Amino acid sequence: MAGMAPHQGRKPDRKVSADRDVVALGIAAAAIILFVGTGGAAIPQIVRSLMGEGQKPDVLLVNAMLLNIALIIFGWRRYKELIGEIEERRLAEERARELAETDPLTGCLNRRSIGQETDRLIEAHHEVGGKVAFLMIDLDNFKQVNDYYGHSSGDRLLTTVSERISALLPRDGIVARLGGDEFACVVPWTGDGNDPIGPLAARLVEKVSMPVRIDDHPVEITVSIGIATNEHEPLDSSQLMHNADVAMYHAKKLGKNRCCWFEQALENALRTRQRLEQGIRQGLAKSEFVPFYEQQVDLKTGRLIGFEMLARWDNAELPGVGPSIFIPVAEEMGLIADLSFQVIGKALDDAKDWNPALTLSVNISPFQLRDPWFSQKLLKLLVQHNFPPERLDVEITENALLENVGLVRSMIASLRNQGVRISLDDFGTGYSSLAQLRSLPFDRLKIDRSFVSELRENGSGAKIVDAIVRLGDGLSIPITAEGVEDELILEALKRFNHLMVQGYHYGRPEPAAEVRKRLARLGLLADQSALAEVAATIEEERNRKQA
Ligand code: C2E
Ligand code: CA
Ligand code: CA
Repeated sequence: MAGMAPHQGRKPDRKVSADRDVVALGIAAAAIILFVGTGGAAIPQIVRSLMGEGQKPDVLLVNAMLLNIALIIFGWRRYKELIGEIEERRLAEERARELAETDPLTGCLNRRSIGQETDRLIEAHHEVGGKVAFLMIDLDNFKQVNDYYGHSSGDRLLTTVSERISALLPRDGIVARLGGDEFACVVPWTGDGNDPIGPLAARLVEKVSMPVRIDDHPVEITVSIGIATNEHEPLDSSQLMHNADVAMYHAKKLGKNRCCWFEQALENALRTRQRLEQGIRQGLAKSEFVPFYEQQVDLKTGRLIGFEMLARWDNAELPGVGPSIFIPVAEEMGLIADLSFQVIGKALDDAKDWNPALTLSVNISPFQLRDPWFSQKLLKLLVQHNFPPERLDVEITENALLENVGLVRSMIASLRNQGVRISLDDFGTGYSSLAQLRSLPFDRLKIDRSFVSELRENGSGAKIVDAIVRLGDGLSIPITAEGVEDELILEALKRFNHLMVQGYHYGRPEPAAEVRKRLARLGLLADQSALAEVAATIEEERNRKQA
């Protein structure tokens, strides 16, 4: 409210001065008319009197004329003042407009004015068959500069960047700072097939990224640029800006420090991505993520050992979106832990119906292992679902070891202390070293299916399977071969001892209800095992009595 007072106070001032101007103008006009009247009569009298030819002029008439002259002078001065006031007001309005249209730090246009200017350029160049390119320019690592060296250094860097951009633009190009570390340029060109925009963008990437000293600190900054033009279809400023933004986002995704042209496919991919993200958020709220199960079998005996839980998304609007798509998106959205705990919770409930000798394997994303409280959270979930930790197997991939081996080591230790087992998944595809394998107490290695599938043709993967099995033997770590798709692969694996196998040969991953039916047929449901136990005890008792 305090801010409104001066604004409210200015209005009556203006009105009073305008009223005064009207009155002054009226008085001056009346004075001029009267002067014409009185002057017409008085001046000849005065002139004659001065020449000694006539009577003295009428005093009243002379006074009236003098008053008229005074009023005309007053009117003239007021007019001069008015001109000054109008000029002052014009300058103030110009300044206010300038402030509204430019970025105070760099002096470039701002987000509000770039749109109007772009539309103006589009229209002006359209008439002569010219085109307009919109370049969205985003600094890649500005936040670090701000965080390391402070905001005033950050401000100086932004000014330098805006100067570098302006220096490279053609005379009729415009530059704006859209906010934060985001700039935009609009460049008209003839549209005659010669492309000056690509080379300009490449120069911008190169020159803006040149090292600079800010407050005596060497600062290195890179930029990502998205380019959109109205070359192939008529677009207004907001569509151009949107397309350039989509292209810029893609440049970031490709690794930053580069420029990218807008393509419709990028827009479509972005829309799909947005639909996915929205779907995942809603799917989590509606508990749409469900566990499916893949059998894990002992190769030698053919006995069912347990199941690997694989997440599925039960969503009618996005059918067929599998974990290879939704897991990475959930990871990038920071929602993987919620999703994972949602499906694991359901799996723990499902597995309680199974024979207690059957194990449950779950996949854990490297993103989840960045949370120092991960093991505590998982153990808490086991307690909540009253699930014995000895039945749980946690699968982590080699990539998880890349990030923070120390954290992963302590997490493995605390889970193993409680009886949970840890498997190294997709072994052979990542970068884990022998030293890591020796220092991290894995309970099992899972050979990636890309190697296992090559057993069919006895390809080079077969030698890798061979080597991994030997490695496991040497380190006394049991091995699972995944991706056993058919009898051929199974036969090839039979030459190894003590392998656990899984794959489509034993059936596709299936939902909890199908698993129950399968286990019922095999007599491997929890209540069946309880019954079997009672029957065995009775039998044992009978045998003892008979003996
Ligand atoms: P993964 O952990 O390597 O899981 C094995 C994948 O191979 C599964 O794909 C499974 O359906 C497929 N598969 C199994 N046997 C065969 C076979 O004989 N041949 C072929 N071609 N494929 C076979 P799915 O279910 O699509 O899962 C893909 C990946 O998504 C998984 O790879 C895992 O990395 C990830 N994933 C699945 N569920 C979860 C989850 O709950 N959390 C996390 N973090 N990742 C999950
Ligand atoms: Ca797995
Ligand atoms: Ca795997």
